[in-house]
Amino acid sequence: MSNFPSGFSAEQILDVLSQTNTATAIHSTDEMIIETANNAMIAIWGKDKSVIGKPIEEALPELKGQPFLSMLQKVLHTGVTVSGTDTMAELVVDGQLQPFYFDFEYRAIKNSNGKPYCILHTATDVTHRYLSKLREKELEAEVQAMNEELSAANEELAAANEEMAATNEELLATNEELSESQQELLLVNESLAESEARFRNTVMQAPVCIGVLKGPNLIVDVANAEMLKVWGKTSSIIGLPLDEALPELEGQPFLDILRQTYSTGEVYYGDEAMVTIEHEGVLHNGYFDFIYQPLRDKHGVSGIVVVAVDVTEQVISRRKVQQSENRLNSMVSTAPIGMTVIRGYDLIIERANKRMFEIWDRKEGEVLGNKLLDVFPELIGQPYPEMLYSVLQSGERVAIPELPVKVQTDNGLVDYIVDFAYDPLFDMDGKPEAILATVVNATEMVKARQDLEKAQDTLKQAIESANIGTWSADLQNDSLVTSDVFNRIHGVPEATALKLSDALKMIPADNIDNLKNAVKSAIDMHENFNLEYLMNPMDGGKPKWLKATGKAYYDADNKANIISGTVIDITENKFHDQQKDDFISIASHELKTPVTSLKAALQLMDKVKNNNPPSPMMGKLIEQSNRSMEKVSTLIEDLLNLSRMNEGQLHLNKTEFDLSKTLGQCCNHVRLDGKHNLVLEDLESLIVYADEHRIDQVITNFVNNAVKYAPDSRDIVFNLKRQGDFALVSISDSGPGISEENQEHLFERYYRTDAAGYQNSGLGLGLYISAEIVRKHGGEIGVESELGKGSRFWFTLPL
Ligand code: ADP
Repeated sequence: MSNFPSGFSAEQILDVLSQTNTATAIHSTDEMIIETANNAMIAIWGKDKSVIGKPIEEALPELKGQPFLSMLQKVLHTGVTVSGTDTMAELVVDGQLQPFYFDFEYRAIKNSNGKPYCILHTATDVTHRYLSKLREKELEAEVQAMNEELSAANEELAAANEEMAATNEELLATNEELSESQQELLLVNESLAESEARFRNTVMQAPVCIGVLKGPNLIVDVANAEMLKVWGKTSSIIGLPLDEALPELEGQPFLDILRQTYSTGEVYYGDEAMVTIEHEGVLHNGYFDFIYQPLRDKHGVSGIVVVAVDVTEQVISRRKVQQSENRLNSMVSTAPIGMTVIRGYDLIIERANKRMFEIWDRKEGEVLGNKLLDVFPELIGQPYPEMLYSVLQSGERVAIPELPVKVQTDNGLVDYIVDFAYDPLFDMDGKPEAILATVVNATEMVKARQDLEKAQDTLKQAIESANIGTWSADLQNDSLVTSDVFNRIHGVPEATALKLSDALKMIPADNIDNLKNAVKSAIDMHENFNLEYLMNPMDGGKPKWLKATGKAYYDADNKANIISGTVIDITENKFHDQQKDDFISIASHELKTPVTSLKAALQLMDKVKNNNPPSPMMGKLIEQSNRSMEKVSTLIEDLLNLSRMNEGQLHLNKTEFDLSKTLGQCCNHVRLDGKHNLVLEDLESLIVYADEHRIDQVITNFVNNAVKYAPDSRDIVFNLKRQGDFALVSISDSGPGISEENQEHLFERYYRTDAAGYQNSGLGLGLYISAEIVRKHGGEIGVESELGKGSRFWFTLPL
């Protein structure tokens, strides 16, 4: 249904209205949806029909930031119409944002309640009108300005005319000057040419490398003698591009730098750059400081001046210094010796190496830069500060090995032993300004040495107390080092410098070859040697049996140079061995005689046993058997006593008895025999507490010996007297006596003086057994004798 009188539909009305030249559009809601827009409006917007139905900012996004949307909204809210003339809006037309000028109106269309529900937007594009007006105004302003300038110029012209007249005069004068100047210029040009030649000459002979490269291809235009020398080329390269002149530059950075200098026009400074240049087919490295200075003419950069100085030697020598400094530094820092530099009388610790910190047991930060005595107050009172001051004073080195020092550590004050040296360091004026202290912690080493010395000493003492002599011979120079015991054994007089050859002279001639051969073969086989040999002591004493051991030490060529070893005196052992051998042979001989005679007597008795009447030999035979038996049993008794004593089983059966009585009653067999008088002289009556049987055995042994060894001594004299708390018994004969040297050994086991032969002798045990019995009683035994005069054997017993 149509509301129009003619029955037009709304679309028709709108279609008609849209034909109007006045641009018209209707917007509704806050988004200002384009309800409709006629062709004129769409043309202004520069869009098409598709904008209809869209919110205005979607349809014309370029309006964002322009005031129109908010103006439209305000109109819709307030109902107050807004209009404007020559208002600028920027719109995208033909794809380009352009300014346009409009006369426009936003009219609120209200419903019956007076509330606005849409806006009728009409606009006329007045851009053309507006711009024409603007141009008009500008032209007017220009004309105005030109008029003003013109009047000013007129005034200036008048003034200039006046000046011109003056200037003409000046010009005349200037012309004269000019001709004079030209004259001068000619002269200057001449001298310039001269000085340029001089300059060129200077450049060519300059002691630095100078070259000029022209154009972007870096054509070598100038290269002085020094440059050619460094390049190792002749002047034939002049005129060539640099990369052809020096093809070896390919791969080095210089061509690129030059090209860059050429293109940027900036100066380039090279510092100790390494350049590899070919000289007669060999590549050489050199170091250069250089400048690439662009040359300019009126068109810009036209070339490059190259100035270079050969610093190869400086670089190499500096590197060498650096290297050796580095080496020194690393040596110092890794040295196994503590090193520190202490400066001035404040004793500031300036530097120290790793080892030094370890010795100090301190960290770098705790020590460096601080005063020595602040860091180590425990040094105050020790000798070190004084020594440091004295080195600073005198400039003289102080070095002392193995000095004790106390250092404060976490474990308290610790004693160290150090080897140290203080070396002065001097300033330019030669005055000591600091000290280089080198310190070796010798604590462990000294302790180890002391332990070793102690061990050696103990060993030496053990060796000496075991009567072992030591010796060491140097085969090269015949020298011999011997111990005191060695010298004593060999009877070497004190302060005698014994040579190896002297020592060998003490060995009897028939022994020496054996000895030398044995030692030689041991050395060859790298074995120890162990020898027994006879030696005649230097002091003329009796020959001694020695047992020597030794070992050779070899030099780098495996040649024995030192032999050392030990020596002991085995004479006694040899003697005892001999005695033992003798004893066995004597004992068997001694037993054999009575046993043989016993056997003979028994055989005879067996023959005559049945004789009738009984054989008169019978009695004699029985007596002979008894005597033999007695002898055998005495020998056996001695042997038994010996073995008992050896096993410590000689038991005493003590009683109190009168010793004078024992003496008076003993040795009846001698009395009966009648060969000797037993003279009892001065027998004091003395009571002893002892084993009477054993004491009788001792006395009988003395008497039997007198009978045996002093057969011609008619009297055998007994004596008994008190001597202090002891009873002294002696039995004397006037027989052959005993030499002093034999007296020494009489009481030893198996000892027999062999003067009288087997007939008289026994087993060499009698006196030994007697001595053991007396000693077991707490008494003493001994002999006094003089050859040819007789012997007096004695013993004592406690009372
Ligand atoms: P033996 O069994 O050989 O007699 P002894 O020990 O009794 O052993 O005596 C040791 C040595 O002392 C004897 O071999 C002898 O040479 C010497 N001797 C002992 N008594 C005398 C003496 N009165 N006069 C001389 N020599 C004696």
